[in-house]
Amino acid sequence: MSDTQTWQKRALDLKPQSQIFIDGKFVDAASGRTFENFSPSDGHLICNVASGDTEDINRAVASAKKAYDSGVWSEMNPRDKKAIMLRWAQLLNEHREELALLEAIDTGRPIADALSVDAPNSARVIQWYGETIDKTYDEIAPAPRNALAMVTREPLGVIGAVVPWNYPMMITSWKLGPALAMGNSIVVKPAENSSLSALKMAELAVAAGLPAGVFNVVPGLGSEAGQALARHMNIAKIAFTGSGPTGRKMMQYAAESNMKQVSLELGGKSPQVVLNDCTDLEAAASTIAWAIYYNAGQTCNAGSRIIVEKGVKEELFAHLHKFLESFVVGNQFDPTTQMAGLVSELQRDRVNAYLDLIGQDGEKLIFGGQKTSGKDLLIKPTLIDNVKPDSRLAQEEIFGPVLVAIDAKDEAEALQLANGTEYGLAASVWTNNVARAHKFARKLRAGTVWVNTFDMLDVITPFGGFGASGNGRDKSLHALDAYSALKTTWVDLN
Ligand code: NDP
Repeated sequence: MSDTQTWQKRALDLKPQSQIFIDGKFVDAASGRTFENFSPSDGHLICNVASGDTEDINRAVASAKKAYDSGVWSEMNPRDKKAIMLRWAQLLNEHREELALLEAIDTGRPIADALSVDAPNSARVIQWYGETIDKTYDEIAPAPRNALAMVTREPLGVIGAVVPWNYPMMITSWKLGPALAMGNSIVVKPAENSSLSALKMAELAVAAGLPAGVFNVVPGLGSEAGQALARHMNIAKIAFTGSGPTGRKMMQYAAESNMKQVSLELGGKSPQVVLNDCTDLEAAASTIAWAIYYNAGQTCNAGSRIIVEKGVKEELFAHLHKFLESFVVGNQFDPTTQMAGLVSELQRDRVNAYLDLIGQDGEKLIFGGQKTSGKDLLIKPTLIDNVKPDSRLAQEEIFGPVLVAIDAKDEAEALQLANGTEYGLAASVWTNNVARAHKFARKLRAGTVWVNTFDMLDVITPFGGFGASGNGRDKSLHALDAYSALKTTWVDLN
């Protein structure tokens, strides 16, 4: 059997756990309801997933609160907590092929990516935050000699995490790592089309020694389970990644319930700016292409706009064209595949609707651009030139393999165009001039800026956006602040 057939067979043989995970055990939804979970790549029914609703969220939050209040995790010796997190990371590594397969069949992404990126990075995030547990110090404030003023971090309590389908395991790990390192309990509501990796992560967490109830997973619909979680009176913070409209609802639910904290990571329309002193246009073109076509453009920070200063476009486009012709698109289980289909028919239809706009306002299709229908979720990598900066194609998050090109007459205009959307998640600038790069980078309104590269991401640096891209930051030591509250304690020494 070829590698492709082996992976395909392993995917078909999988028997994933698909119940709700509450209090360390897999249970059915209180209502007994399930929903069908189909594989996007071949349409086969993977399993029926328990469809949690308000009652299940109530059970999960009660379990998480009981665990939190008991101190079984929130007050555990840091050294022991760290050992559990590290053991869990090790188990995630040992199960990486199964986790990668679960992620691949749920999302349709290439198995090569799930194996090399999603599974190991998720384990690394848990390991990294585990390592912080016995290295995070509190503070003594410079109070007068007759007093002691301590500033300590306290866990918030029970965290609710609502996560999307584009990088389910990694994004979940970005919430789990700092939340658990700070001593909180957590309830995760995965996206309905990608619940399986979170359930496996929870099972492995308990196997590693995480006390029952500290980490619960309630699959279900956003409008039911997600809303119930975000409105719950015993949830101290909701950590959300997803679309802008749902992000707004999260704020509304918080305001209408207990004014819980809300952190939002809402995607973007990241510009990739090529200034005309960039000499290695071949390298730029390849990085620019990966920045948009990786995971078929279903990436919050996808570099979905290129802004090209006058003078270099012809050569840049020639390299982009060459790249696109050799880009391996197709079967997700072929280990050589670089880009596979989209996550769902719904997402494909959303992308199709944007492809319909090509040519309506002078746009020029350079590559791809064909819509697909039925069960065919593979939209070819698409490059569109002559896109008007204020058009929908240039302003809205498409979340598909669609790159739009906008001309800039000079550096000032390139900057204005780069900052000319409501978003501000990420941006890149290509130039050979270090001073120019620094000045330009400072002026970009984006949570992450790359110079002469894209997508260098790691748990060591914060990730999040400006403007409509949301608030708060995942990853890095800064995320620990997002899952804890500062407490000041004054002691009178007289
Ligand atoms: P959503 O924002 O609707 O989904 C993200 C998560 O929110 C899912 O778990 C979803 O559950 C949940 N959810 C949906 N509605 C509610 C609600 N009323 N209350 C509580 N939770 C809710 O995104 P979509 O999946 O619909 O994708 C739409 C667009 O969003 C994409 O085309 C893309 O532009 C953007 N997006 C951005 C992401 C990012 O990384 N920033 C990730 C995913 C999407 P369920 O799926 O079960 O309904």
